[in-house]
Amino acid sequence: AAKSDGGRHRRYSTDLDRGNDEEARLGAELRTALDNGEFHMVYQPIVELPTGNCVAVESLVRWWRPDRGYVSPDVFIPVAERTGLIVELGEWILRTTCLQYADWWRNGVAPYRFGVNISARQLAEPGFVGVVAAILAETGVHPARLIVEVTETAVFGGGAAVRAVRELTELGVEIALDDFGTGHSSLGLLQTLPVRILKVDKSFVENVTMAGRHAVIATSLIHVANGLGLVAVAEGVETAEQAAELYRLGYRRAQGYHFGRPAMAQLTSVPAAARTSV
Ligand code: C2E
Ligand code: CA
Ligand code: CA
Ligand code: CA
Repeated sequence: AAKSDGGRHRRYSTDLDRGNDEEARLGAELRTALDNGEFHMVYQPIVELPTGNCVAVESLVRWWRPDRGYVSPDVFIPVAERTGLIVELGEWILRTTCLQYADWWRNGVAPYRFGVNISARQLAEPGFVGVVAAILAETGVHPARLIVEVTETAVFGGGAAVRAVRELTELGVEIALDDFGTGHSSLGLLQTLPVRILKVDKSFVENVTMAGRHAVIATSLIHVANGLGLVAVAEGVETAEQAAELYRLGYRRAQGYHFGRPAMAQLTSVPAAARTSV
């Protein structure tokens, strides 16, 4: 951009350029990071209420930079989406998670199901469903064990993403709507999409023990889920009080630090979590 025209405009351009430069640098670093094996997966339990028995896990990607430590996926996933690297990174994520699940299975400690986050860009990519089918076949994981977590925004507006969701369902894969309630047109989507699981965003779970707006929404969403025969998972449950209140409202599935933080497979006791009550 022109930097010679002075005043506010120049300053704005400079900030914008700096933002773009940083994004370009991060994009390039992500490429190198994938080649250098700087990513790994962690797994967080999804439990049944009120027992606390682990019924599934969600896989979450981590980027550990040898020089600077962890970078949040909230920072690098959007960049990977914009550069297109998410397609290759996402394939690595899916394969790594399926290999881990197959390993738990062989050892008799697999949770019933596992969820993998799929970004909008990945879902709309031609051939995506074929890649999923190939990875499941290659790793020997039954499609019914896989839950694909997609956001409302990814499937808003139809098109390739919605077709992919339908084809995944035909494969036998389950679909979860992630961050439910925070996007556009949440309820409308439920009329047309073959979704089975609603992940109720943690913003609605946070204040569930206080009277007020958030509790009202958490209550309405469980009624919607139950009325439509869907499974609602309360996200971001951090306290025993929240878990108890969610159970009272009718929630039977929950996820959050109260039950278990995301952890590496070697360190999590998925087997123990699958057997014991919390
Ligand atoms: P998400 O899919 O909604 O994942 C849940 C996030 O909430 C995770 O953050 C998890 O660590 C965090 N969390 C779990 N329990 C609690 C709790 O009790 N309290 C609080 N405050 N947070 C909790 P994380 O791992 O930093 O991921 C952030 C987002 O980045 C994810 O949100 C997802 O949108 C994206 N992401 C993470 N891993 C992947 C991946 O493998 N692929 C894709 N496409 N996106 C991913
Ligand atoms: Ca998720
Ligand atoms: Ca979520
Ligand atoms: Ca989220």
